[in-house]
Amino acid sequence: MSKATHLECSLCNQRFDAGTVQNLCACGGPLLVRYDLDLIRTRWRRRDVPNGVSSMWRYAPVLPPADQAIVSLGEGWTPLIRTRRLGARLGAEWLWVKDEGLNPTGSFKARGLSCAISMCVELGVRKVAIPSAGNAASALAAYAAAAGIESHIFMPSDVPQANYLECKAYGANVTLVDGLISDCGKIVAERGPKEGWFDVSTLKEPYRIEGKKTMGYEVAEQMDWELPDAIFYPTGGGVGLIGMWKAFEEMEKLGWIGARRPKMVAVQAEGCAPIIRAFEEGEPRSRFFDNAHTIASGLRVPKALGDFLVLDAVRASGGTAIAVSDDEMLDAGIRMASDEGIYAAPEGAACIAALEKLLASEFLKATDRIVIYNTGSGIKYPEAYSTRFPRAAGGEQDKLGGLITPR
Ligand SMILES: *Cc1c(COP(=O)(O)O)cnc(C)c1O
Repeated sequence: MSKATHLECSLCNQRFDAGTVQNLCACGGPLLVRYDLDLIRTRWRRRDVPNGVSSMWRYAPVLPPADQAIVSLGEGWTPLIRTRRLGARLGAEWLWVKDEGLNPTGSFKARGLSCAISMCVELGVRKVAIPSAGNAASALAAYAAAAGIESHIFMPSDVPQANYLECKAYGANVTLVDGLISDCGKIVAERGPKEGWFDVSTLKEPYRIEGKKTMGYEVAEQMDWELPDAIFYPTGGGVGLIGMWKAFEEMEKLGWIGARRPKMVAVQAEGCAPIIRAFEEGEPRSRFFDNAHTIASGLRVPKALGDFLVLDAVRASGGTAIAVSDDEMLDAGIRMASDEGIYAAPEGAACIAALEKLLASEFLKATDRIVIYNTGSGIKYPEAYSTRFPRAAGGEQDKLGGLITPR
């Protein structure tokens, strides 16, 4: 089965060899993996896909590593759950949640890092490094452990406790940095070349996006190859959205879907909304968002490397970009949990808060078929949710209610 033919710069279109280790193009553009889709479509048909494995590797013919290099912990092929009560409550008749919280390490980051670490195995990379605000670090640490590769992780010191503990347990070399994710990125960029680390920062290498694009293949397959009318995606670096957009393009070339696309809705936090600002100003790229803050750690990306790709996809799809507050995220998260039994990350819950607004503004109709991505599990965010359900120490719990003393 043919794999990647080459890598292509998303800015200047320069081509690179797919068989060697690459980071960014010399022009600064992220590299995208390209395949001979005309050849692949003669050998791999849409009707063959259901015979594949129950993970994202069912789409292995359009993923770069060779089969023997794949490092899998069962990522992807997550459920697409039709809501039972939440849609009706919001006035959306056809609402689904793609629940990425069920992935290894509790977020969709598993997809990207399964693919990237598999490529490390294929290309002989022995040491990797990442700056991360949380879930990417956990996923990197897990897949590096599974592959027997050394990992170096740089996280802001206020990273959620769950991510820190996971990374330590997986045996990663963890450094907490008294600064922002951008400071962590600088350390990796400076020390990486000397230490021989492969930098797996978001979009600085070509493979994580390939893993993330499988979210687009899966939603098509799970909806019987009819894409929904709208997709809500909580956007930090935006790689999931860029990846899905790439997947739709590839599926059209494979003859699996037509030219119709869902409206892509990029959701951000009010405290960190560079994409929304650029979208509203009609700009092709975003500007650094000062004092970025939100409980949704995955959305705390003040300036994304692939911002122009996100903005292009959102505009080409007839979609939009919208910000919600941290309070709205928590409200929506608790509503989702109690209505559906899905305990979402605040990032995923942000999509529900955004959906409410876009139904109210009539950007979407009650009869539209809508998919929201819950990108992670709420279980990883005790700090965020405990602001709503405080548990005081000792006798204080009496005053909050819910404590009884057995006699
Ligand atoms: C990283 C992350 C995001 C943002 O992902 P991008 O594809 O980089 O925009 C959203 N939600 C969660 C839970 C994340 O960990």
